[in-house]
Amino acid sequence: MFILPKTIYISEMSRRTAGALPAGPSQRVPALPDTPASNSDLASLFECVVCFDYVLPPIFQCQRGHLFCSNCRQKLTSCPTCWGPLGTIRNLAMEKVANSVLFPCKYASSGCEITLPPKEKADHEELCEFKPYFCPCPGVSCKWQGSLDAVMPHLMHQHKPLTAPQGENILFLATDINVPGAVDWVMMQSCFGFHFMVVLEKQENYNGQEQFFAILQLIGTAKQAENFAYRLELTGHRRRLTWEATPLSIQERIATAMMKSDCLVFDTSIAQLFAENGNLGINVTIVKC
Ligand SMILES: [Zn+2]
Ligand SMILES: [Zn+2]
Ligand SMILES: [Zn+2]
Ligand SMILES: [Zn+2]
Repeated sequence: MFILPKTIYISEMSRRTAGALPAGPSQRVPALPDTPASNSDLASLFECVVCFDYVLPPIFQCQRGHLFCSNCRQKLTSCPTCWGPLGTIRNLAMEKVANSVLFPCKYASSGCEITLPPKEKADHEELCEFKPYFCPCPGVSCKWQGSLDAVMPHLMHQHKPLTAPQGENILFLATDINVPGAVDWVMMQSCFGFHFMVVLEKQENYNGQEQFFAILQLIGTAKQAENFAYRLELTGHRRRLTWEATPLSIQERIATAMMKSDCLVFDTSIAQLFAENGNLGINVTIVKC
């Protein structure tokens, strides 16, 4: 049976549930000091005995009251503490307590200092800047992941030869666009103290027609990406094709944006209108808004 510490520090958010807490038991949890339990003391009481992740609502217990997280519950056939049957017993009191505790972000060990109520935890972790990032390089099956600071060094060392010109307005020249099949052209562009990845991808659709997709991604968070806008422009004889948008952040996937056609999209006939000797130039302009 879980025993609550003698005095509970009630935060602003927990006041509503305070009345629901049982009176302090005479027996005390040994690890806790004889002072008001801090939020982190309380959060530590919700550690899963199996994986040390937090046990968050909905909270299930075995018949003897042992708690474990929903992830482990899916894998377990009996209680890891008493080996009794798992059952489907919800512990509503613990759920109420959990909803009044602020839990550290999953990436606390990577440097995130944010603590949140259980309901907001997953949403934050999805966008947490300390979340390990996957290699954004398209068209290669690279399994690398790491911190935001490490993305650019990884790209430059592992995906050579990537060109990385400096400037807000650069001509991205994709050579040999008539090579058949799926091809990626990638360039890094640096300006305003940030690095951007420009990608032109040629894909073949289900009826064998080829399409081009061009997009710009910031090597930075979604919040940072909001400060920029970019323009991709094909220019030819008395013709111009333009796409303007907010850059993707590294928290989004280029493949997903291309699937939704949320980028500059054109077919091979259009590519031919703007290409010269099989090479296609795309003007890339990045502005700070
Ligand atoms: Zn667990
Ligand atoms: Zn048990
Ligand atoms: Zn975080
Ligand atoms: Zn990589």
